[in-house]
Amino acid sequence: MTHYDFGLFVIGAGSGGVRTANMASGLGVKVAIAEERYLGGTCVNVGCVPKKLFVYASQFQDQFDAAAGFGWTVDKSTFNWTSLIKNKNQEIVRLQKVYKNRLQKSGVRIITGRAQVLDAHTVAVDGKEYSAERILIATGGWPFVPDIPGKQHIVTSNDMFFLEQLPKRLIIVGGGYIAVEFAGILHGLGVNTTICHRGHKLLSGFDEDIRDFLAHEMTKKGINILFNTDIEAIENADDSFAARLIDGSKVNTDLVMYATGRIPNTTGFGLEMLGVELDSERAIKVNSDYQTNVPSIYALGDVTNRVNLTPVAIAEGMALVNKLYVNQLGPVDYDNIPTAVFSQPTIGAVGLTEAQAREKYPDIDIYKTSFTPMKNNLSGIDEKTLMKMIVIRSTDRVVGMHMAGPDAPEIIQGMAVAIRAGATKTVFDSTIGIHPTAAEEFVTLRDAVN
Ligand code: FAD
Repeated sequence: MTHYDFGLFVIGAGSGGVRTANMASGLGVKVAIAEERYLGGTCVNVGCVPKKLFVYASQFQDQFDAAAGFGWTVDKSTFNWTSLIKNKNQEIVRLQKVYKNRLQKSGVRIITGRAQVLDAHTVAVDGKEYSAERILIATGGWPFVPDIPGKQHIVTSNDMFFLEQLPKRLIIVGGGYIAVEFAGILHGLGVNTTICHRGHKLLSGFDEDIRDFLAHEMTKKGINILFNTDIEAIENADDSFAARLIDGSKVNTDLVMYATGRIPNTTGFGLEMLGVELDSERAIKVNSDYQTNVPSIYALGDVTNRVNLTPVAIAEGMALVNKLYVNQLGPVDYDNIPTAVFSQPTIGAVGLTEAQAREKYPDIDIYKTSFTPMKNNLSGIDEKTLMKMIVIRSTDRVVGMHMAGPDAPEIIQGMAVAIRAGATKTVFDSTIGIHPTAAEEFVTLRDAVN
């Protein structure tokens, strides 16, 4: 029998890699994990976690303003960006330590540095070689920036978490979730914010009503959204920039952020040489057991570019360990994965959009409601809530739920359990609401609007 240094060598200590390493090690497998940048990967360092902290930071001014309606007088508030960054950094360092402790406690060997795959069973880090029965690629993704004149002036989400100072004006290019989340954050912190999007609507892939609603609410708040356009070049203009759009017009700004997608981290560490198959977007191709065309090499998470979310990478890691070392459970079920956008208002969604449902089933009922959240009646905040449910008439099954408004992600997480359990509209209707909440609207939707 061949002797290997490790049973499993994981490359990338992000959401997927860390969970796989901890779990496999807990089952007695000898595991190493290599990380070149930061323990915890994208989510902890430049993704979900700091993003959500920024969202919180950006909501205070609205809350101070709203307080007057409830009898409070709030003295003039001031905001200190440097202090937010410092506190955020401290929290990230704390989380990195938690990750490190957990890995060490599980018995995983942490190897710091950039890993190179030398062959199907060998990985090198900083010139030292390690053999492994299996290698897992969990190297995530990286922001994509198109090649335009002035590209050197562009920042991405990675940089936004470490800006030395807040700009007065900002252009965000893109219409996906990262673009709208950052637009809400920067606008909330007082930055004059413009979204520049080549599509005709925000948030491709989401329900059309939600897409329209979000653009409407963001515009109402004062975010400038330019649809059907793109930046051709970014030019220096004194100590600011001018973004030249495809119609020849110019928008002056202090900062340009691109949120135009992410590309899988698959280059420059040996995969090409080994012949690991990639798809047209440079994502690693895997079978249903996360195995590449090189049998000892596996891949999961964002590097496979399927559903690029932290809980999905974690679920894939657990499914892989179960498959390899416990011989239990099947691969992850990719249907009905709930998702959220921490825009302002927030969005939560699970299941089919109306368009997807209409394509799949001939008999769809749509239930919809839009209202002013109770708090806003006194707060004076001009923001509404939209809730929508999609039901198959013949079977009564609820196949899609969508919400934009306060706490939408928290509410939809619970609704996702009901949808996965196969709940019918009758079950929703017979559920007693919790009053007074927004969530109770989902159990009191009476008339289809079709
Ligand atoms: P990653 O977490 O990206 O980890 C990959 C790791 O591999 C990195 O640490 C990298 O340094 C390391 N690495 C790469 N190459 C090598 C090498 N050769 N050697 C050694 N190490 C290497 N998801 C959510 O679910 N909710 C959210 O709210 C959310 N918000 C996000 C906000 C932003 C701005 C971004 C960018 C992403 C967000 N995501 C969110 C997505 C989420 O962060 C990813 O889906 C998740 O981190 C993927 O985990 P992963 O393990 O596949 O890769």
